[in-house]
Amino acid sequence: RKLFEPLGYAVEASRLPLDEQFPQWGESPYFALQLTGTVRVTDLLSHLYVLVPVLDDDKHYWIGPDEVEKLLRHGEGWLAEHPAKEQIVQRYLRRRWNLTRDALARLAAEDAAPVDVDQVAEQHAAEEEAAEQPLRLNDQRLAAVLASLLASGSRRVLDLGCSNGNLLRQLLEERQFTEIVGLDVSHRALEIAAARLKLDRLPQRQQDRVKLLHGSLTYRDKRLAGYDAAALVEVIEHLDPPRLAALERTVFQFARPKTVVVTTPNVEYNPLFPTLPAGKLRHKDHRFEWTREQFRAWCEHIGQRFGYTFQLAGIGAADVERGSPTQMAVFTQTTPQVAFTPSVTP
Ligand code: SAH
Repeated sequence: RKLFEPLGYAVEASRLPLDEQFPQWGESPYFALQLTGTVRVTDLLSHLYVLVPVLDDDKHYWIGPDEVEKLLRHGEGWLAEHPAKEQIVQRYLRRRWNLTRDALARLAAEDAAPVDVDQVAEQHAAEEEAAEQPLRLNDQRLAAVLASLLASGSRRVLDLGCSNGNLLRQLLEERQFTEIVGLDVSHRALEIAAARLKLDRLPQRQQDRVKLLHGSLTYRDKRLAGYDAAALVEVIEHLDPPRLAALERTVFQFARPKTVVVTTPNVEYNPLFPTLPAGKLRHKDHRFEWTREQFRAWCEHIGQRFGYTFQLAGIGAADVERGSPTQMAVFTQTTPQVAFTPSVTP
């Protein structure tokens, strides 16, 4: 589970008997492993290439430096941010320490310089504001999210994909919120958030209310469990579909707050932005922008799969035909636990 779940697979493993005809002989050292998920074949093959030997923990041939190259080549794009990367690298390289150290150092370099996340965070505000500016849409969005969080009665709240901390600042001003956590994958964005909130200069009592976490929503994260509410403001559209599926499980299955507020652009509205060229999305890192129908379908999928009801609302002045520029869903948990059933069977 530690190896495959962070990559978005549902994992089923069952121990095989030594001999099916003689169960009294006990268990074999082997497991049957079933992975379920929707992934690109090329990614699946890379995952298996690296992780099967890791499970095996036994390589029958000599390990030389070219194994480091193979590992990094097949691990590209996922290994650097995998929560069990140390263990994976050690086992893959059969605990040859000098090779392990070399591989981990190179992965750390890759992880520390994520090509776009920081740039994305910085450009995001500017570009999206430029496109949406006449409406001061950003302010309206934050006000709507804040109102929903207040109305839910939540006290301990998560701002997932908090970027520079605009929402965090408003949350801090409301005494209802006793614990406020911002998480983002961009370290740079968190630095900006800390500076803007003047965290180091706040009185201790205020400092104790707010925490910034560096992490990715595509990985299950124990630090996010047990909160009353989570906000995902203009975040989901930054993830391509397999990663969005991983985010869904991180948030709705594992963190599982009682209330989840999600906002995302309504693509139908785009032609009404005077500065946005036809057919273009509002930000170049957006992997998709949905129509109202597509967003509703996604909300229904989330509700059914994870046990939440939801209410939809538009944010920003609505056009009769094209609706509001931003769409918002407020999810409310209906059952405390969810029995996970994979939605796709290969
Ligand atoms: N909620 C903020 C920022 C929206 S921009 C606001 O409304 O102003 C999207 C943010 O999501 C960026 O800061 C980006 O770094 C973050 N993000 C993108 N993918 C992420 C992931 N997998 N995990 C955590 N944060 C992510």
